[in-house]
Amino acid sequence: MQRYFAENLFDGKTIKTNQLISVEDGKIHSIESAKFQDDAIQFSGLVVPGFVDVQVNGGGGVLFNNQPTLHTLMTMSHAHQQFGSTSILPTLITDDLTTMQLAANAMASAIKQNLKGIVGIHFEGPHLSQPKKGIHPSQHIRQLGPEEMAVFKRTDLGLVCVTLAPENVSVEIIKELVQAKVKVCLGHSNGSASQAFAALKAGAQGFTHLFNAMSPLQSRQAGMVGAALLDSTSYCGLIVDNEHVDTTSCQLAIKCKTPERIMLVTDAMSHVGSEQIELQFAGMTINRQGNKLTIEGGRLAGSTLDMASAFRNSVLTLGCSIQNAAKMASTSPATFLGLQQKKGHLAAGFDADWVVLTDQYFVSATYIAGEQVSS
Ligand SMILES: [Zn+2]
Repeated sequence: MQRYFAENLFDGKTIKTNQLISVEDGKIHSIESAKFQDDAIQFSGLVVPGFVDVQVNGGGGVLFNNQPTLHTLMTMSHAHQQFGSTSILPTLITDDLTTMQLAANAMASAIKQNLKGIVGIHFEGPHLSQPKKGIHPSQHIRQLGPEEMAVFKRTDLGLVCVTLAPENVSVEIIKELVQAKVKVCLGHSNGSASQAFAALKAGAQGFTHLFNAMSPLQSRQAGMVGAALLDSTSYCGLIVDNEHVDTTSCQLAIKCKTPERIMLVTDAMSHVGSEQIELQFAGMTINRQGNKLTIEGGRLAGSTLDMASAFRNSVLTLGCSIQNAAKMASTSPATFLGLQQKKGHLAAGFDADWVVLTDQYFVSATYIAGEQVSS
């Protein structure tokens, strides 16, 4: 049995002091109030549940689309662990069928060998809206056919999330995906609020990077944003990097949806955890200036955000409490993924996945299944 002593610990509900965590076989055996234990590993900062990121395109200098291999998944997972992510969904941007199949094969290998920190795959596209494509390559945006359906329905990929535009995919197909246990998110969409509600009724559960690349809330057209804010059961990914979404818009979203329905996501490109400046993707050059990634003309092209920065921005820029930031970084996405019995809380029976944060909310250590994975 491994033992850890946390001076401050947020368990997913409340912040407690002087907690002794006992771990057996990668799971938390018990957490209890205790006096200082000199034979336990000491954590002087704040221990919070490990971060869960449902949208990660790359990291450590590699982009999943450019190299859809097991090695890429290892590199991405390791890069994001340095910033507190203990569970990620590597995300494939719109691409051709062969790349989708290669990405699925890589994911199947990762799941089979229980690669630390990888819980499944997110296909962001290719069934999106042309007018709201962002940097997704236009030539690969298409209808959902039997070949793509076969990839999405594979049962060896761990958790599967698909982002689609409801104006491009029928309600019947959404129902078929949901029945196959695929988590359907709406995004890169120019659809109406009523199209969004119809998709939610068919079983869609979330919205991908709320506000970005979707029809806005207007006086006579509520759009995807209006539907997302009004609906109380769906989850919304939010990119809190001080670039993608205005502070007031973030605060409004958190107020409307509550922290229980907001998921901090990075939408990270290969730059996270690397010194990379320039990235080639689908014939485009993506350049980094500070914390911003753009293609020629200034359009945003993913982010350089990591989960610890998203947590920090939520507290320091948006004014969220530590509890709410931790919920948005861990508990809400874990619940969205159906992992609420294993992840998102620190309690007996849960996976021993946690992050130790400094008083400025930087990562001092990341643990997965009771083992330190950050260097
Ligand atoms: Zn996107």
